[in-house]
Amino acid sequence: MAALLSTVQPVIDAIGRIGLEKVFLLLMAPVFIVSMGLEAWHLGRVGRQTYTWRETLNNVVLALSHSVADGIAWLLVLGLFYGLYRHRLFDIPLTWWSVAGLVVLQDFFYYWFHRASHRIRWMWASHVTHHSSETMNLATALRQSVTYPISGMWIFWLPLAWIGFRPEHVVLVVAVSLGYQFFVHTESVCKLPRWVEAVFNTPSHHRVHHARNAQYIDRNYAGVLIVWDKLFGTFVPEEAPCEYGIVEQIHTTNPLVMMFHEWRAMFADLRRPGPLGLRLKHLWKPPEWKRDER
Ligand SMILES: [Zn+2]
Ligand SMILES: [Zn+2]
Repeated sequence: MAALLSTVQPVIDAIGRIGLEKVFLLLMAPVFIVSMGLEAWHLGRVGRQTYTWRETLNNVVLALSHSVADGIAWLLVLGLFYGLYRHRLFDIPLTWWSVAGLVVLQDFFYYWFHRASHRIRWMWASHVTHHSSETMNLATALRQSVTYPISGMWIFWLPLAWIGFRPEHVVLVVAVSLGYQFFVHTESVCKLPRWVEAVFNTPSHHRVHHARNAQYIDRNYAGVLIVWDKLFGTFVPEEAPCEYGIVEQIHTTNPLVMMFHEWRAMFADLRRPGPLGLRLKHLWKPPEWKRDER
């Protein structure tokens, strides 16, 4: 019994601390709402309104359902994070440099999570929801899928616990990173000072990421720091105007279609007759992969 309690207790403690992430998002919610209101007011004033009630409401519904799924997923996988943390490589004290280290490392793993989300269809099936909007405004940031935990987003943060960062700190830094990324979903900011554009993910860099122009596809995966794209060869600056959305636009106002259309298409491809080994490749090949082009 004592052994069982000692295993379960850290998880119970962490559930309380994981609340930090939700408290952070709750505190940020008024900031998000006011920012969207200001952006909509500004766009209306300059005659470039991109907000519609229907799409904004859909994005809010997707954000809320994603947040619930995300909370449940954290509770389910937390034991795994603590298991790895118990076998951590380093004992890392809580100091300014360890916080900075966690932010930079989390951002590094975010880059690879995001790149994988575009190049592995199993992950794209979730991430496509974020990209199917044909407009770009702050509300687009809210457009997320409930199926991220199934696609395995959390797997990318496991190394952080193994290195020696406390799981509840990892959860909080993931939330702060996503909070930062809310503000890069806008057309209202053209370019920021050159040094900011050189180091950070900015509205300009992220507009490119959401564009379906041929030269912009699968570029600028950055979360907070754009340096990863420059290091790993996926950076493209914004030059031609962006056309937003996905290669084959879905033109839907139904949030269920937004969340599940790619899963449906992937399993339809999987069911098509052929050698099993080849059919299974639809799960991990890039989204554009066609079986007949092998
Ligand atoms: Zn993306
Ligand atoms: Zn985005």
